[in-house]
Amino acid sequence: MAKRNILKMGDPLLRKKSRAVEIYDEKLHQLIDDMVETLHHVGGLGLAAPQVGVLKRVCIVEYDDKLYELVNPVLVKSSGKCVDNEGCLSVVGFRGLVERPEKIVVEYFDRNGTKHTQQAEGYFARVFLHEMDHLDGVLFADKMIKKIIDDD
Ligand code: ZN
Repeated sequence: MAKRNILKMGDPLLRKKSRAVEIYDEKLHQLIDDMVETLHHVGGLGLAAPQVGVLKRVCIVEYDDKLYELVNPVLVKSSGKCVDNEGCLSVVGFRGLVERPEKIVVEYFDRNGTKHTQQAEGYFARVFLHEMDHLDGVLFADKMIKKIIDDD
């Protein structure tokens, strides 16, 4: 396993649309393992492959001590609205208030190509949606309704 560098806002790779994973091979497993190691090193709730410069539809979410590895995730249902505070490992110096759906259902594949369906709500749903936005080149900063400058 190896820790990877996290790209920062301004890097054009963060703005590209990622490609679907077609082959569930050792290379994919290595990417996911590296992303997990990187997330654990820097701390955070999630990380998407484009943030480490790989334009594949892969992201990880760690929430309530549970790790979710999402390959080719698709939002299949969403309802409600809520506004909360978000930050991003690729965005330095500020956070923002972003409106997102309150409840979602996401379908995705795990690293072995097995399909899963996950329901989520509140901040848990928010983390999924934030990471999935990265796969389409979207950052929270594009959607925020209020910018919150970090003091430190
Ligand atoms: Zn992010």
